[in-house]
Amino acid sequence: MSKGEIEVPIKEPIRSKDLDPNFKYEIADTPLGKNLNACFKCGACSGGCPVGIVTEVYKPREVIGKTILGMREEVLAGDQIWLCATCFTCEDRCPQKVNITDVIITLRNIAFREGHAPKALIEQAKSMIETGWVQHPTASMDKRREELGLKRLPKNALEDLQTIVKATGFYDLIYGKEEKEEKT
Ligand code: SF4
Ligand code: SF4
Repeated sequence: MSKGEIEVPIKEPIRSKDLDPNFKYEIADTPLGKNLNACFKCGACSGGCPVGIVTEVYKPREVIGKTILGMREEVLAGDQIWLCATCFTCEDRCPQKVNITDVIITLRNIAFREGHAPKALIEQAKSMIETGWVQHPTASMDKRREELGLKRLPKNALEDLQTIVKATGFYDLIYGKEEKEEKT
């Protein structure tokens, strides 16, 4: 490349054979995704997204656009949907009343069921099920709280939590998946 020329990154073309035309209906048929197809790509959601401000790889308009286009594998197996902070700013701004955050939560649920959950989240879920804490307090944290004159952290309701995760199927989703992986 000669001096003064700008390098433009070349993206892989989107091939129609890789698209799932039913994906948008799959999401729109869920209770949280019903307005998905009203999106007219204005970009107001991306413009107000606090995550998009700190990283270029995340734009809610892109997630919604790829979902409508039918890029099922890319959306569900990719990292983007896990970056949303679920702050709902995008939903407040969308002129078409697309439930953007809810669509992303729906996409996460499907991705999780289909084995695409990030390992770090699986570990956090296990920690929550086994100890009642996503991030277990350490002895040094307890000591620091004491030094600052803060109360000891309350005992968590571990038994109730374990009853809920078993009754809702969340336990099987986490440990069933692991058992299946061990067998393969
Ligand atoms: S703000 Fe709403 S209509 Fe505009 S791009 Fe985002 S989802 Fe689509
Ligand atoms: S809910 Fe997610 S996508 Fe929407 S503005 Fe917040 S971080 Fe961005």
